[in-house]
Amino acid sequence: MPQNTLTVADTRTNLADMDRSSMEEFFVDIGEKPFRAIQVIQWIHQQGVTEFNSMTNLSKPLRERLIETARIDFPEIVTEQQSRDGTRKWLLRVDAHNCIETVFIPERDRGTLCVSAQAGCAMKCSFCATGKQGFSRNLAVGEIIGQVWTANKLLGHFDSKQRIISNIVMMGMGEPLLNLDNVFAAINLMLDDLAYGLARRRVTVSTVGVIPAMDKLREKAGVSLAISLHATNNNLRDMLVPLNKKYPLEEVLAASRKYSQAQNGDPVTFEYVVLDGINDSEQDARDLVKLLRDLPAKVNLIPFNSFPGTLYQRSSPATIDRFREILMNAGIITITRRPRGEDIDAACGQLVGHVAPRAGSGNIGVAVI
Ligand code: SAH
Repeated sequence: MPQNTLTVADTRTNLADMDRSSMEEFFVDIGEKPFRAIQVIQWIHQQGVTEFNSMTNLSKPLRERLIETARIDFPEIVTEQQSRDGTRKWLLRVDAHNCIETVFIPERDRGTLCVSAQAGCAMKCSFCATGKQGFSRNLAVGEIIGQVWTANKLLGHFDSKQRIISNIVMMGMGEPLLNLDNVFAAINLMLDDLAYGLARRRVTVSTVGVIPAMDKLREKAGVSLAISLHATNNNLRDMLVPLNKKYPLEEVLAASRKYSQAQNGDPVTFEYVVLDGINDSEQDARDLVKLLRDLPAKVNLIPFNSFPGTLYQRSSPATIDRFREILMNAGIITITRRPRGEDIDAACGQLVGHVAPRAGSGNIGVAVI
């Protein structure tokens, strides 16, 4: 079972790290009926309750026993920022050295939560601020679902019982498909009717293209898939997304096709960060059309979001419009992602949190905070 590292000294089991099946196991292991898991999951994820003493449908002796052996700990909120456009960003502390970021993006017809899967990222995509800061560690289940829990709490969902978060995208810090087991358990809770009850299509996992894990995601979770493509040839993609050297473009596209087929032809979303003079020519757009020709695909063009020290620049609106037009004329549904929360550095690729990158062979480096 994944361990939460929030309270190193506290050896009690953190029930925040458990989806329904692992919590059932926990209760059976302590000699209780498995249905206790149903009650506790509802208390935590539908009522927002983390005190065993408030769980009134558990007997007093069971509550006392749980207080002794278990805990329900989610990441602690360090700061909250709100953008002029209504986007909210939270910095959450997951341990003494690491903080992660979570972003809520309200729109007219939906509310999307952008969730992190790792503290930092090991992918080193050259245009991404998270990638520049390095990798610290995988997040535990409770640290991933804790972002959903905390956002629901702060947005008033547990009091109003109104669904404020309608969509979840795993597009925050880190590469979700390199933290598979914990991401799967967190997705189970996102989908579980006893917890957040989201439809599979409303949960999206974004990946640079970790092919073996894409197959597992399809089999085990069946949620929507987004691929960070960003280039139409291997030379350029090697530079922008270094994992391309291991899993090249054509293999990523073949795995995407397989994914879509298994999902009854649901389209895969391809994210394409538009970089001035790098991948934004009309020829690039035509090449992208060719690559996606026989694949159920949607394209999200992401205007580049700047960060200190980067050499890349955002393409002009006219260039991005022209690029989009070429794709649309070829019948590919293409959306230009409107940058949200730029004034609070909450836009794509700007999430940095505070992480202590690992130096060399897994040592924890100097703490940033
Ligand atoms: N590692 C996963 C999840 C992160 S998703 C993935 O790469 O898919 C974050 C999205 O924002 C990715 O599509 C990423 O390529 C994009 N992105 C990263 N840096 C960006 C930047 N500076 N401007 C715009 N988009 C960026």
